[in-house]
Amino acid sequence: MDPAIFEASQWVKEARHAIVFDGAGTSVESGIPHFRGEGGLWNTYDPAFLSIDYFTKHPGESWELIREIFYRHFSGTRPNEAHRSIARLWEKGYIKSVITQNIDNLHQRAGTETVLEFHGSSEILVCVLCRNRYRVSDIPMEKLPPICIQCDGVLKPDFIFFGEPVPSGVYEESLREVMKSDLILIIGTSGEVFPACHIPYQGKKNGAKIIEINIESSAYTPEITDIFLRGKATEVMKQLAGRLL
Ligand code: NAD
Repeated sequence: MDPAIFEASQWVKEARHAIVFDGAGTSVESGIPHFRGEGGLWNTYDPAFLSIDYFTKHPGESWELIREIFYRHFSGTRPNEAHRSIARLWEKGYIKSVITQNIDNLHQRAGTETVLEFHGSSEILVCVLCRNRYRVSDIPMEKLPPICIQCDGVLKPDFIFFGEPVPSGVYEESLREVMKSDLILIIGTSGEVFPACHIPYQGKKNGAKIIEINIESSAYTPEITDIFLRGKATEVMKQLAGRLL
């Protein structure tokens, strides 16, 4: 047994309010690539298509890429062992909530019910005019852009585009959650996306311990990480949960 896994599991066991803060790395082994660096989405696609300015001016073109990445490429993906281990730890009360930068709904599908979606969700489409909301499965995608059934406005995925603010309330709610926490598991995030990246620093300042899981060091590692567990989220979380369940 890796002594670091052993110590980390003890910390989870003893924590009063442990939470997860995660990013794209958690879902990589479900087949959803991360954005930056080797194997990242931005090596294949131009992120400019996902700016709110571009979307507003060219919704049809922007939607071609959105459909390709988020609704064709992502469709058929399933929660992996990391999502499932987190859900089991949540069910047993070891983890109180998940603050995720991911928009893929995989934590909820694995069974975790207290998920704060910092960047919104790809499951929901919202009308840019009347703000009506739809489940993506209820809207045909053959003709782009998809249109609101009520008012003919353009529908936009309910996740944030470059140049858009974080959804109202979620930043404050995440901060409240992090200030309650005495242990944060940071999983699969580079710590470079503003303003989400600030969340764990606030927890650390408030006295929370930090366990980090990543295949490589992140912006957090030299700054706030107490225990660094190097490895794939699936493998490390399986080992960690295995010590506790
Ligand atoms: P990022 O692309 O900046 O960083 C991903 C991190 O995951 C890196 O630190 C990398 O080393 C790590 N990683 C890669 N594979 C891993 C694995 N198997 N196990 C553990 N760690 C692994 O991603 P980010 O920090 O989450 O920020 C990018 C933004 O992109 C976020 O805002 C998020 O909303 C969005 N995004 C979401 C999804 C998704 O919903 N699944 C996918 C890509 C990007």
